[in-house]
Amino acid sequence: MSNAQQQSATSDAASGERYDAIIIGAGIAGMYQLYRLRELGLSVRVFETGTDVGGTWYWNRYPGARFDSESYSYGYSFSEDLLKEWDWSEHFSAQPETLRYLNFVADKFDLRKDIQFNSRISTATFDEAEDAWDVVTDDGTTARARFLITAVGPLSAHTLPNIEGRDSFEGLSCHTARWPKEGIDFAGKRVGVIGTGATGVQVIQEIAKTVGQLTVFQLQPNYCAPLHNSKIDSKTQAEIHASYPEIFDKCRASHGGFIHQPDPRSAVEVPAEEREAIWEKLYSEPGFGIWMGNFADVLINEESNRLMTEFIVKKIRERVKDPEVAEKLIPKDHGFGTRRVPLETRYYEVYNQHNVELIDLNENPIERITPKGVKTRESEYELDILIYATGFDAITGSFDRIEIRGEGGKTLKDKWADGPRTYLGIQAAGFPNLLTLVGPHNAATFCNIPRCIEQNVEWVTDLMGYMRDKKYTRITATKAAEDEWTKHVYDIASLTLLSKTPSWFTGANLNVPEKKQTFLAYAGGSPAYTSKCDEVAANDYEGFALE
Ligand code: NAP
Repeated sequence: MSNAQQQSATSDAASGERYDAIIIGAGIAGMYQLYRLRELGLSVRVFETGTDVGGTWYWNRYPGARFDSESYSYGYSFSEDLLKEWDWSEHFSAQPETLRYLNFVADKFDLRKDIQFNSRISTATFDEAEDAWDVVTDDGTTARARFLITAVGPLSAHTLPNIEGRDSFEGLSCHTARWPKEGIDFAGKRVGVIGTGATGVQVIQEIAKTVGQLTVFQLQPNYCAPLHNSKIDSKTQAEIHASYPEIFDKCRASHGGFIHQPDPRSAVEVPAEEREAIWEKLYSEPGFGIWMGNFADVLINEESNRLMTEFIVKKIRERVKDPEVAEKLIPKDHGFGTRRVPLETRYYEVYNQHNVELIDLNENPIERITPKGVKTRESEYELDILIYATGFDAITGSFDRIEIRGEGGKTLKDKWADGPRTYLGIQAAGFPNLLTLVGPHNAATFCNIPRCIEQNVEWVTDLMGYMRDKKYTRITATKAAEDEWTKHVYDIASLTLLSKTPSWFTGANLNVPEKKQTFLAYAGGSPAYTSKCDEVAANDYEGFALE
């Protein structure tokens, strides 16, 4: 810590330590924001619930957890040294390696000295007289800072199902986002999994290799496509290192921050034979090409989406031997890609195993969880282990779990009760000096996330440098700018099929029935979002009131 930093982090009896900025969360966003603000010469404290860095990759230790983004498109791009020093071993890195990478970053930049672990912030209150945020942690620690920056992650507030008897189960039960560090031994065990989103798919295909008996409790299936992961050989490793600038340029130019670029044509205008050949190629290639590199209108035009859906349905039928099971695995309520596509490795083949059973909860709902297992309307399934892959109170949930009070003592939770309202997904009117990295209605919510995190962090860092230079102490989004951005978010979302399909993007969550269903992400794409942010900054932070 520099002298200036030490001076500004002096102790204050009323409101604890004082900093220029407090960051909530030491995941990918919080770590990078800390690095950049320290570079700016600010005093910064990060509060993190976990015992170490990593965020998503710290908590989600379930077997099979791995990237769906190409590893080399996911790591930080800001440091050439870091890019040189780190080799990814697989095209789609598994969680242990990703967590090792984030630890490597924390060590390299000596980040831990400014992070307080085991500390969950429970309240954050804006002091209007002083232009400062006061935070309190669960254990009563207090601290104050001019700026409060949330780096809480869009998918970190995990949710358990509200099923009667849940706590009575006598075996081992666990949500995938709270996986024990020591791991779980599945060999020969009777295991149940509730949930078949991207997480459920990864965990199911992995544990199916060793379990004694696996029972999958599925509400709505998802359209999954092959990941095609492989090791990175030394020749490819050298090519990756030599082409980082092009890789990141490609990501910057793409809608969702991936290396995959869409085919600009409409699927319906391409001759059937050619279209089929392109889809076969995408299905045989690694990664999200099939979702993000498809024809440009597959997520917009219903007929294009119907044709693509037919293609994927055919694949599911080809891969699952029992036609009745195959039918259960085919979604009937939405088209391909209108919910997040889980990428898989022999997921569908799991259902060809004699020791795997798929329970369609629409036909045979769960009545209760018993000390022995899961009781559905038709049978009781005795289990040793029950896994909840039941998802998250997405995007706004992690904000709701903190009591955040802005001007007039109003809470952010109340403000967003009918859906989030923000300016650029980075600020909410009435909450001065609160900056929400990867907040609702921010392009980073629909993105190969580190790419958009870097944009968010760099924009916030520039803003803070600007405020310091101009001696501003308060920034608030104006109501007019917030109204306009919120309307734009919904207008853009309404053009896509994603907004018409309930999923975590739209706030649908069976386990949080009070959550208002509105579109929570930003569907306009990362390049458009970045241009808008740059334009706002170039116009002296137009749409914000600076005092
Ligand atoms: P999710 O997509 O929300 O899936 C939750 C699953 O649990 C769904 O199948 C849901 O069924 C089911 N479910 C929820 N409550 C239930 C209940 N009460 N009874 C029965 N079933 C219930 O959550 P997720 O799979 O954790 O994935 C969330 C997101 O995290 C992904 O979309 C992705 O963006 C990210 N993720 C990324 C990776 C990666 O990069 N590799 C891996 C995993 C996750 P319904 O759908 O019918 O409600």
